[in-house]
Amino acid sequence: MKNKKFKGISTLTLHTAAKENNNSSHTTPIYATSTFTFDTAQEGMERFAGKDKTKLYTRWGNPTFAAAEQTIEALEAHGLTNEKGEPLQLKALLHSSGQAAMSTLFLSNLSAGDTLISHFSLYGGTQELMQKILLEAGIKTIIIDVRDSALLKKTLEENKGVKLIHLETPANPTLQCVDIESICTIAHAHGVKVSVDNTVATPYLQQPFALGADYVFHSATKFLNGHGSALNGVLLGKDLEFMNTKVWKWHVLLGGNSNAFDSYLLIQGMKTLEIRMERHCSNAAKVSDFLDKHAAIEKVNYTGLKSHPDHAIASKQMKQHAPLISFELKGGIEAGKKFLDALEVCTRAVSLGTVDTLVSHPASMTHFSIPREERIKYGITDGLIRMSVGIENFEDLEADLAQALSKI
Ligand SMILES: *Cc1c(COP(=O)(O)O)cnc(C)c1O
Repeated sequence: MKNKKFKGISTLTLHTAAKENNNSSHTTPIYATSTFTFDTAQEGMERFAGKDKTKLYTRWGNPTFAAAEQTIEALEAHGLTNEKGEPLQLKALLHSSGQAAMSTLFLSNLSAGDTLISHFSLYGGTQELMQKILLEAGIKTIIIDVRDSALLKKTLEENKGVKLIHLETPANPTLQCVDIESICTIAHAHGVKVSVDNTVATPYLQQPFALGADYVFHSATKFLNGHGSALNGVLLGKDLEFMNTKVWKWHVLLGGNSNAFDSYLLIQGMKTLEIRMERHCSNAAKVSDFLDKHAAIEKVNYTGLKSHPDHAIASKQMKQHAPLISFELKGGIEAGKKFLDALEVCTRAVSLGTVDTLVSHPASMTHFSIPREERIKYGITDGLIRMSVGIENFEDLEADLAQALSKI
């Protein structure tokens, strides 16, 4: 990563990605190639022996992926320093999806007999990865309320095989937030590493490395891309030696590499991260205020509301409140269906972080494969509606929500 110093996030996302081309292209070229040529046998040998793995074979790396990785490294390290006071250096590995990056994270850090600690209300795919693939690979997951420090310490004392604590904050769809800094302090005292799924907050709102995290994960499919045009996942680490050896090797062998076109779309999307997030966040605050006051609504989950149980920690560790809201209608699931069907501006779709507002029903969609009792225990009730607030003009969102709520 070129350690260019930019004061602001937009300058950083516009100017970090290397252009890597001989033809004066203004945008980063799409290197649609599986392999790279060597002028001489000697050059091939040198490239294989060298540190730069971006010009060998695309599963190992590609200049378009590298440009996206450099921008994400710069975003997560922006303004941060290491123990020596030098600018923090990170290593990012771009993957084909969030799930691919998560697989590399778990499988390169955990092996049979090891234990992972995590919390409830995780992204459905993360929870299933733990309960199906990791379990069959002999890796146990303990789900506890990590907000309870005494319980976390007790669990670490009683389970000597714990190697990693995986956090998702804010967590989807209840917006549960956990204290990254205090959990990292407890984990490190027990020699345990911490990974943070920063998808919902984005590095614009929250920088887990500043709070002690060892790894940061993103489904770059969401706010980083911002337009719902491609899937990508990224895993970042600050132990450069470990990232460049074992983690890189597992990434390459598992084969979850991205592709040049999706990487290009990600690079283009990230250029507007800051201005998109500003609008997403201000719209979300207004939408939650509107919903919270509406007679048809039972409950609104949004970390910006004082009524949210994790409002204090969310306010402490995020620059603004993340633009994700979930809410329950007084009429339960039937009212929910009528509400979804009546929407005319908001888009009915799963996923989150796109420029348009997306509305979904977790119980029947994203969290369908989680058993009902478990889901309800974690706050994902039958009538819960989730909304990823977009950048539309607020007046249009307000009018759409008002007319749809009048029809239930
Ligand atoms: C979408 C998502 C994932 C999975 O990412 P994919 O890109 O869909 O594979 C993981 N965590 C969170 C919080 C997500 O929203």
